[in-house]
Amino acid sequence: MSRRLFRLGIRGHLFLAFGTVVAMTLVVTVVGWVSLARLGASLDRVVGHHLPALTAAAHLADRGGVVIGTAPALAAASSDAQRQRVYQSLVRTLGSLRDDLTALDQRLIDDTTRAALAELLAALGTSLAELDRNVRLRLEQAGQKEEMLERLRWLSADFLDEVEPLIDDTRFNINFALNRTEPGPLRLQAVALESRRQEALYRINADGSLLTELIGRAANLPDPEAVHATKYYFREVEERLESDLATVAELPGILSLSQALVDIRGFAEGPRDLFALRLEELAAAAAGRNLLDGNGELILRLHRLISDRIEVETTAALAAAARSRQAIGRSRLLTSAAVAVSCLATLLVVWLYVGRNLIGRLTRLGGSMQRIAAGDLQAEIPVGGDDEIGRMANALRTFRDTIEATRAELVQAAKLAALGQLTAGISHEINQPLTAIRHYARNTTILLEQGRHREIAANLGKISELSERSIRIINSLHSQARKPLGRVRPVDYTVVVDNVLTLLERRIRTDRVEVAVILDPAARWVLAGQVRLQQVLLNLMTNALDAIDTGNGAGARQLQIVTKAAADSVELQVADSGSGIDPADSDKIFDPFFTTKDVGEGLGLGLSISSNIVRGFGGTLNYEPRAGGGSLFRLTLPRAEGERNG
Ligand code: ADP
Repeated sequence: MSRRLFRLGIRGHLFLAFGTVVAMTLVVTVVGWVSLARLGASLDRVVGHHLPALTAAAHLADRGGVVIGTAPALAAASSDAQRQRVYQSLVRTLGSLRDDLTALDQRLIDDTTRAALAELLAALGTSLAELDRNVRLRLEQAGQKEEMLERLRWLSADFLDEVEPLIDDTRFNINFALNRTEPGPLRLQAVALESRRQEALYRINADGSLLTELIGRAANLPDPEAVHATKYYFREVEERLESDLATVAELPGILSLSQALVDIRGFAEGPRDLFALRLEELAAAAAGRNLLDGNGELILRLHRLISDRIEVETTAALAAAARSRQAIGRSRLLTSAAVAVSCLATLLVVWLYVGRNLIGRLTRLGGSMQRIAAGDLQAEIPVGGDDEIGRMANALRTFRDTIEATRAELVQAAKLAALGQLTAGISHEINQPLTAIRHYARNTTILLEQGRHREIAANLGKISELSERSIRIINSLHSQARKPLGRVRPVDYTVVVDNVLTLLERRIRTDRVEVAVILDPAARWVLAGQVRLQQVLLNLMTNALDAIDTGNGAGARQLQIVTKAAADSVELQVADSGSGIDPADSDKIFDPFFTTKDVGEGLGLGLSISSNIVRGFGGTLNYEPRAGGGSLFRLTLPRAEGERNG
């Protein structure tokens, strides 16, 4: 699985990574969209249902409050006009309540509540009608009572008008008996009779007033028990009055007084019984109170029903608001999480995949490419990964291996070419002394036959000299052909320069080149490999001779080799008065295969190989134009410590 993922390549990986980010963005959008839709639905419900339901409930509660406030006013109405006004207002309010209930939207109220409210309103209507009837009765009774009490007051005044002259008469009769009648038993009898009558009349006067008073008080007594007790007391006073009336029965004008008393007593029985009226009034008042209580209870139920609705709607609205809050919170959380994941994915893609993986691998591969371009074919190539970069690295490795093999072959070819050149030169060099030696040997044989010993000695000296020169040439060749050692050691510049000059001696002579060698004794020993250093110098000097050859034939033909010592290094300069290097080419001369020479004359590997060899010694090889025309190569090598003074 992971291998298949790996095979996706850079495009696949980036597609996957950005796909993840896009997916996260989509998730954020969808979550936001769903949350907003939920929020909208909640708000719709609050606005479309809960708020109208609450408003309707508040309206009902408001009208219910009017009924609650007005019903006691009906019960307490003090006039029929007031009763009618209050009752009409209550009937109107109840009608409005019924209308409101009927008009209430089907969705805002359930059927049970609607039925319960309608039932309550009907009961309330009945109860208020009863209360109204009761109040009307009470008001009628009160009017009747008031009228009867008024009449009673008149009767009471009549009674007093009747009783007072009779008392005055008895007083006169007593005085008359005392003043006009002769003393004796008759006078005593008459005075006693009149006194008894006067006494009875005084009691009749008091008891008659008391009866009026009791009736008047009974009309306002607070409870039936007190009414009964007063009536009982009334009967007792009546009985006493009967006996007193019997005492004065013979007085003239007593009939009027009796009639006045009968009239007053008529307010305690029969159709004008004020006691019975008061009892009826008290019963009606109690019934009114009961009705008001019942009414209050109904209103309370109505109020509770409406309050319940308000509570239900408020709870639902609050729940909807809470759900909305939750939806917003959830959406915020999910959005934040998705954004965080998105950021993390982007960060991981940029930092781990693009930064560490792609850029890191590309940078390493670029480094390897630069090192290979600089000639370091041992540069490590970071292969790995089955993507485009991995394939690029594999291609670079194949390229490097091919280059290495090609370079080895070319180096070999260059070596063989150089060897061929050398061999040709050397065979020519050796051929010359050998021919001379053969000539001198033949000559010596002739001189020996002639006995010319002095000339023979001179010939032998020449032969010896020529042999020396041949040996030197062969030794140079020998040292050049030796397999170079990989390590560095102190190498003597005088030997190296001498060997190379020996190899090039014939060409220098043929080309008539003026060679100047200025070797600083302090710059004699360097850290290098002798064979490889010779190879470098041979290449530099061959190039110099080639340049002199192709340069202006009329000008000076000079080759100068100079060494100079520095603190830790030695610089060797190879300067020539040759054609010089075109400034446009000066950057390329160290590149492998760069050559300006004709096919078969140069491979363009000399300077490239030489600079690699010098780098291997820890030194540098640089070119600069020579002042006055031609080229100047500076070869800097580490100075050999042990041989510094040698
Ligand atoms: P080759 O000698 O096979 O061409 P080199 O790498 O030795 O390869 O030299 C590369 C090129 O540098 C030469 O072809 C030549 O153009 C230039 N060059 C090197 N040395 C000199 C010099 N002393 N004077 C002028 N040109 C030079």
